[in-house]
Amino acid sequence: MKAVRRFGGWAAWTAIGLSLTAQPPNRLTAQEPFPTRPPAPIRLRPVQFPPFREVALPNGMTLLLVENHEQPTLSVSLSFRAGSAYDPAGKEGVAAIVAELLTKGTPTQNAEQIAAAIEVALPRFGDSFCPICAGKPLAGVLREEGHGAKRSLVCSLCLTEWNYRRLVCPACGEDRFDRLVSYTASQFEHLRVEACETCKTYMNTVDLTKNGLAIPEVDELAGLPLSLWARENGYTKLQSNLLGI
Ligand SMILES: [Zn+2]
Ligand SMILES: [Zn+2]
Repeated sequence: MKAVRRFGGWAAWTAIGLSLTAQPPNRLTAQEPFPTRPPAPIRLRPVQFPPFREVALPNGMTLLLVENHEQPTLSVSLSFRAGSAYDPAGKEGVAAIVAELLTKGTPTQNAEQIAAAIEVALPRFGDSFCPICAGKPLAGVLREEGHGAKRSLVCSLCLTEWNYRRLVCPACGEDRFDRLVSYTASQFEHLRVEACETCKTYMNTVDLTKNGLAIPEVDELAGLPLSLWARENGYTKLQSNLLGI
C-alpha cells in the first residue's frame, strides 16, 4: 500500500514536470508595438456609494459613518469647506490671500512675535508637548520594557509619539504619587484614565502590554465611557480628540 502511494507521488511529479516543459516561452508584453492612439473611452457607470449614517455632533461637526467590517481598522478623515473652490463669485483668490496672510502674522502680532512666543512657551512646558509640532498630547501609551512598562504620549495634531515619565502629570508636572489617580473599567482592559488631583486634568492611556494590537489614536476614541466617568468626577481632558470628546 505504501509503495503504491509513493508511486502515485512520483507519477504526479512527472506530470507536473511535463506540463512545465511543454509551455511555450512567454512573450514579453514590452516587445509589442507602442500604441499610437489612446484607448477609446468607456461608458460612464453610476457610482454606488456605500450606505452611510449622518450624525450632527453637539459641537456642530457633521459625522458621516460608513461601516465595513472586513478589516479590524478604523479610518477617520476630517474635511473643511475651505480653499479656492469655496471662493465667493467675483472674489476668486480670497482663500489664497488669507492663507498667505496667516503666515505673516495677525493684526496684533507679526510672524516673528508669534515664533518668539512659541520659543518661550516650549521650555516652560518641557517634554509634555510634541517635539515635532508642539501640539498637546492626545493620549498616553504604555509599552512593555523589561519587567514593567514605559510610557509615551501621542501628539493630537501629527500623531508623533515621544517618551514621557511614567508618574508625572503632563498638564502641570505634578509627580507626587498620591496626587495621581488612574481609573479602569472591566470592559476596557487595555484602557485607563490617568488623572491629576492637583490640576484636575485627565487623559486616556492605551496599555499595549494588555493588548498589543491596540492602536493608540483609534482605541483612545473607544474610551468614551471612561471620559464620561472622568467628567462626572470633575476632571477636564488635557486635549479633546477628533470627535470633540
Ligand atoms: Zn505633533
Ligand atoms: Zn496636573
